[in-house]
Amino acid sequence: MTTEPLRVNLLDLAPAEAERVLRAFAESRGVGAYRGGQVARHLWTKPVASFALMTDLPLTFRDELDAAFALPRLALATEQRSTDGTRKFLFRLHDGQTIETVSIPDGNRVTLCISSQAGCALQCSFCATGLMGFARNLTASEIAGQVRELALLPEPVSPTNVVFMGMGEPMMNWKAVQVVLTILNDPAGCGIGARHITVSTVGVLPGIEAMAQRPEQFRLAISVHAPSDELRRQLMPVNIKFPLARVIEAAAAFSRRVTFEYVMLSGVNDQPAHAAELALLATQCGAFVNLIPLHPGGAGSYLPTSAEGIQRFASVLTRHGVEVAVRKSRGTDIAAACGQLRVERLRRRPPRPADEHGQVEKP
Ligand code: SAH
Repeated sequence: MTTEPLRVNLLDLAPAEAERVLRAFAESRGVGAYRGGQVARHLWTKPVASFALMTDLPLTFRDELDAAFALPRLALATEQRSTDGTRKFLFRLHDGQTIETVSIPDGNRVTLCISSQAGCALQCSFCATGLMGFARNLTASEIAGQVRELALLPEPVSPTNVVFMGMGEPMMNWKAVQVVLTILNDPAGCGIGARHITVSTVGVLPGIEAMAQRPEQFRLAISVHAPSDELRRQLMPVNIKFPLARVIEAAAAFSRRVTFEYVMLSGVNDQPAHAAELALLATQCGAFVNLIPLHPGGAGSYLPTSAEGIQRFASVLTRHGVEVAVRKSRGTDIAAACGQLRVERLRRRPPRPADEHGQVEKP
């Protein structure tokens, strides 16, 4: 039996660290440190799928790289395309876990919605990912790899924005997410501006505090979804561990302006009184509020608030001086909301054709 020698996974490293390792390696192989720099640029800046395909390098050096380092791929299991240009990808990982990535074009912008965990432990009552339970944290290379894989497609996707709004809770995987933030933002990595990178959390306080320490202007979104502990506990069990008042306090202490996400559930959290309570919370920490129409393919038996109901709710917030936006529907012919593609695959194979899927809401 042959055992694979342990190769260093370059895609788990921050770009500066990868370059340092590669330059030292190149020097040790007698090809000059600059060759290491060339390899480093093929990780994220001008991504190339394998060492063999790095044709600007000497052949023997490519073989030596291949023996010492790994550039793992994520296997694309499914892709669906919406008529509005939204594309949804299901990747299969080495252990069979599957994760979703969504690309959402909007004018000159292309937003990628990436996953940070396989499954999720938080069990928010309306969310499809919560239904499948938690499998495991993704590694940095599996999270940033979603961006890399899309750049390697025959029709490459190059994002202007990245949001951690796919499967999982990024702040429960901060160790990997903090490296991914560097990879995405570093000019020697993907080079995406920090203000174009948003981490969305249910309010995991240690994660928010850690992110506040970062000098870059990464954006923070908090899934609030209810203006009182009583209601929030019912929708989001995590509220028992991290109650609303402490989450708002952390948002106020955060160095940059935060966004509240608020999914509109008919007859549950969408009444004018809820809006007035929410306005108070938003004012306490200067938050911007994003109202999200419910994606009906989630969990539970919730119904979406009507468009008029959402507008009424928004106008109460505006009257209280709170800035508010209603997230628009994208990819309405494919199921692109959190966890839905994977749940779809688990429930029935082959997946239903796109025209039988329900509505999709993403940023
Ligand atoms: N765990 C993080 C990030 C992943 S979910 C978080 O909760 O913030 C990204 C957003 O999608 C969250 O605001 C989540 O509440 C929302 N979401 C989940 N299921 C949804 C559904 N069925 N309809 C609309 N939004 C949903």
